[in-house]
Amino acid sequence: MSEQTDSKKTNFIRRVIEEDLAQGRHARIATRFPPEPNGYLHIGHAKSIVLNFGIARDYQGTCNLRFDDTNPHKENPEYVAAIQEDVRWLGYDWDERLYFASDYFEQLYGFAVELIEKGRAYVCELDAEQIREYRGTLTEPGRESPHRDRPPAESRDLFARMRAGEFPDGALTLRAKIDMASPNLNLRDPVLYRIRHGVIHHQTGREWCLYPTYDYTHPISDALEGITHSLCTLEFEDHRPLYDWVIANVSVPCKPRQIEFSRLNLEYTVMSKRRLTQLVDEGLVAGWDDPRMPSLAGLRRRGYTSAAIRAFCERIGVTKADNRVEMAMLESAIREDLDRNAPRIMVVLRPLKLVVESYPEDRPEALIAPNHPKDETMKARPVTFSRELYIDRNDFMEEPVKGFKRLTLGGEVRLRHAYVVRCVGVVRDAAGEIIALRCTHDPDTLGKNPADRKVKGVIHWVSATHSVAAEVRLYDRLFSVPEPGAGGRDFRADLNPDSLHTLTHCFLDPGLTEIAPGNRFQFEREGYFIVDPDSRPGRPVFNRTVTLRDTWGRKTGRTTERS
Ligand code: ATP
Ligand code: MG
Repeated sequence: MSEQTDSKKTNFIRRVIEEDLAQGRHARIATRFPPEPNGYLHIGHAKSIVLNFGIARDYQGTCNLRFDDTNPHKENPEYVAAIQEDVRWLGYDWDERLYFASDYFEQLYGFAVELIEKGRAYVCELDAEQIREYRGTLTEPGRESPHRDRPPAESRDLFARMRAGEFPDGALTLRAKIDMASPNLNLRDPVLYRIRHGVIHHQTGREWCLYPTYDYTHPISDALEGITHSLCTLEFEDHRPLYDWVIANVSVPCKPRQIEFSRLNLEYTVMSKRRLTQLVDEGLVAGWDDPRMPSLAGLRRRGYTSAAIRAFCERIGVTKADNRVEMAMLESAIREDLDRNAPRIMVVLRPLKLVVESYPEDRPEALIAPNHPKDETMKARPVTFSRELYIDRNDFMEEPVKGFKRLTLGGEVRLRHAYVVRCVGVVRDAAGEIIALRCTHDPDTLGKNPADRKVKGVIHWVSATHSVAAEVRLYDRLFSVPEPGAGGRDFRADLNPDSLHTLTHCFLDPGLTEIAPGNRFQFEREGYFIVDPDSRPGRPVFNRTVTLRDTWGRKTGRTTERS
């Protein structure tokens, strides 16, 4: 695979792997993606997926999908299914290597007994509060639990009775016996097992009332699966000594290496599953697949392609530096993809009638418009021209401002793929608002622009009598500040109240194009759009994926505005 030598793809983790391969430390690379099934995946997870599965692919290794399901009260099978769908949609496959940390509960129990027998773990009777008190602080060493030197046989017996359900929640824990004076708080006899009665685990049901902690479960799960490189985010850096301690003290078949990288943060959105869950549960968005959500389900419904998300993840790279990526980077990735691949159609979002008075009433004609300006293989489509058209309200100004290049009273404009028209009058309603434009056309201007006619503007249009009505949803950023909830504010107070504009009277000329949910288009001069599953026969609904150009830089402007 030549891709692995592509300099764009190299990062410090790949360099470690190449070194390990060169030194013969591993014959085969094995990674894993370990989501907790307590929410849908988001674009941050995509960074980890692309990294883990990408490494497996480029080094002819494997990447497992493992549900890290040791926290049953927040987990749910809906998430288990959605996560698998999203990873597949992103373009990755775990073959038969689908695992659950809960599959290892029995083995994890066995390794805990091994630790007890080696004198490396003990059953402790301190409650959660006392454990916290005894732990000490960053500046003060901790105090040893009075149960720390309990004979292994006694701990072993108590541990078995904990499993058998003899003790209530919180009465006893199993703790590693490491070092209460360690400068690293994670090594001050961390809890390995807690008692949790009454929870029904989505995989193991009521079988267990004893649940292992993440810090204990993760290294052992990695080792049991033969993972060589366990890639995780930076907040686990301080847990690495504990990861290594667990691996060194139980008889697992291999020694995986944990390497940390920085999380992806994106401006104008939030990425924690806790906050995203809150948005969904409180009805602040329509669901996990709301097109404004940074979830993969939301981005997919918004019109993002998996190729664009992968390209974005490659582009942001992998480092240890904290960062907040501009939304413009994500948008430019989808723009590049859709610019190449989305067929063009004309859709009028804010219709204003235009009557071509010089054009016969009974003679609509099918003009030909290419589906892509640069790619002839995408062919062409018929567009019906007729006497009554719609243009966009924003493309006409009775009294033009300086620099306005579109249609004005008395001025000329080219109708894209059609004729040059001149506006000779306006029609107003009783309130004085313009409801239609009166125009004439020049029949000699089809497909050419005579040198003597300096027409600066080109606008899009549809035939009023041949077009289909559609609903178009324009999305803006979900939050109105780059870092929602910064400075201790409630992040919900930063929601952008104008993140969705629904236009219900839009018109499009589909030509012969099928408008089916999931199809993506460029609406000429407007942006890229996808057909939403809310569409009904004869009444398509579109989501705007992204505008044609980057408009995020503008502080005040609505992103729909054009110059
Ligand atoms: P959250 O804070 O959103 O709940 P998490 O880390 O608890 O995230 P997990 O389901 O445990 O979510 O994450 C699965 C994997 O994805 C982990 O290896 C985690 O490090 C990685 N991951 C999660 N969020 C990000 C992110 N923003 N950027 C990069 N990797 C991430
Ligand atoms: Mg987590």
